[in-house]
Parts: sequence; C-alpha cells; structure tokens
Amino acid sequence: MTLNNTCEPILKGQRALVTGASSGIGSAIAKALAMAGAKVVINYAGGADRAQAVVEAIQAGGGEAMAIRADVSREDEVEAMFAQTIATWGSIDILINNAGLQKDAPLVEMSLAEWQKVLDINLTGQFLCSRAAAREFLQRGVVPELSNVAGKIICISSVHDIIPWAGHVNYATSKGGVSMMMKTMAQELAPRRIRVNAISPGAIKTPINTAAWMTPEAEAELLKLIPARRVGEPDDIARATVWLASDDSDYVTGVTLYVDGGMTLYPGFDQGG
Ligand code: NAD
Repeated sequence: MTLNNTCEPILKGQRALVTGASSGIGSAIAKALAMAGAKVVINYAGGADRAQAVVEAIQAGGGEAMAIRADVSREDEVEAMFAQTIATWGSIDILINNAGLQKDAPLVEMSLAEWQKVLDINLTGQFLCSRAAAREFLQRGVVPELSNVAGKIICISSVHDIIPWAGHVNYATSKGGVSMMMKTMAQELAPRRIRVNAISPGAIKTPINTAAWMTPEAEAELLKLIPARRVGEPDDIARATVWLASDDSDYVTGVTLYVDGGMTLYPGFDQGG
C-alpha cells in the first residue's frame, strides 16, 4: 500500500462540472469540490444571482468557479455548456449529475407533461451530460498528474431508486432509471479508464423537500423513517462526493452509495417487526 503523505488538496488541478449547483445539494457539492482543489462549473437553469452567489462563495475561499446556464434536458444547451467549459479550462475531469426536480401527483391524476418533465430532467439530463463528459474523457485520456483515470462521473440518484414511492411515480421511475444507466455506463467505460458511480441520498434538508422537515410535526414523522434519527444535511452528500471523485476510491465503479442514515434498512422493522 502506498500512502499519500503530501498535503496537496485531493482534487488539485481537476476541473469539475456540477449540474443544478445554485442550491441545495449541488451547491454544497460544488463548494466541497472547490475546497478539495478543483475548479468548478456552477450549472444552473434559472436564477443567475443564486449561481453567482455560489461562485463568489468559492472565490472568497480562494477557489475558482464560473457559472454557466443550461437546461440539462436540452441537448443543444448541454453541448454548449461543455464546449464553453473545455474552451475556458482546457478539459473536464469530473461530472456531478445533480440537477433534478419533483412534480408529484397520484398516478391517476398525473399528466403526461408532469411525467415527461421529470424524466427529461432527472434521467435524460444525466444521459446528455454523461455522454458529453465521456466524449471528452475518451478523446483526452488519462493525465497521470491529475488522476489515475480519464474521468469520473457521479450520478445523484435517490433512495427512491429502490424504495417505491406512492404519489411520485415519475420521480421514482427516473431515479430507478439513473441506477441502471449508471451501472451500464460504468461497465461500458471501465475498460476505457472512466469511473461511474451514484450517490443515493435519503432525506436531506434542501428546497426540494421543505414541507417534509419544516415544522416539528413534519420532522418527527420523517424521523420515523430514519434509523439514525436525524435529517441529513447537504454536506453529508458533499463529503461522500469528494471521496468518489478522488483517487481514494480508485477501485470503485458501478456502485450506488446510499447516504441515508439507514433509510433503506426497512426502518419499520427497527423494533423487531
Ligand atoms: P434543489 O431543488 O435545491 O436542487 C435541484 C437543482 O436542480 C436546483 O438548483 C434546480 O434549479 C436545478 N434544476 C432543475 N431543473 C434543471 C434543469 N432542467 N437544468 C439544470 N438544473 C436544473 O434540491 P436538492 O435536494 O438539492 O436536489 C439535488 C438532487 O438531489 C436532485 O437530483 C434530487 O433528486 C436529489 N435528491 C435529493 C434529496 C433530498 O432529500 N433533498 C433526496 C434524494 C435525492
């Protein structure tokens, strides 16, 4: 075993792109990657001011970042975002597929538009960004001074890639799709020195799920589903992401890391069933 006994930041010199990085988990991941030494693209779909605030927070900490607007479900906008990133920073080393949303409705009330929108952003968006990143990783190859591999892709999924979720069939289906897409990409790209993994958060305090933890009553109900008895924070996901993006996880590909306080451990059985 060789030990890295230098004090270099673990992602020094690498270039990362985080989709949906102007809020919640994406913002925390972007800041954590920057603290680990990466330059970071803050992708956002709307609200340039919030994206700029993340850029400025990173710059204030001595890091480097830029904001790029692109709707991840639009092929032309994704292609333009990667072209701008590569033109500015020379290449890209890390993609974090984080952008996502919910449009909840019972099955019988869900419109085709609600179904399609969630699939387009949560699943097709990850496909479009992964394809663009992989093309660049493959044409550039491994740069040993930066990383052992040509690139890393991390897909932010959800515990609902394995836990069915009544009233959210579009969301749960999109995340189930992310799981199989991630494993298939990992299998296809591993021989080409690209690692692909997923992180599946449990309940994390962000704007996507405010109603689930905003009041003490709602939070108490939510905690019944979490054996660790605390709602997660964006930094819980960010720390795991930095590890998966670094060479410390060099032999890890095609896995889903559940960062969920035990939500996937059948919490209803915690008193013996
Ligand atoms: P969030 O709403 O703060 O973040 C989602 C981000 O995606 C927002 O910044 C939004 O503007 C962006 N986005 C939406 N559509 C986009 C598009 N077309 N193009 C580019 N960006 C777009 O919520 P969050 O909780 O931080 O969610 C981040 C990811 O984590 C999502 O994929 C979500 O499904 C996943 N997740 C969250 C939780 C949780 O409990 N918060 C649990 C499991 C999974």
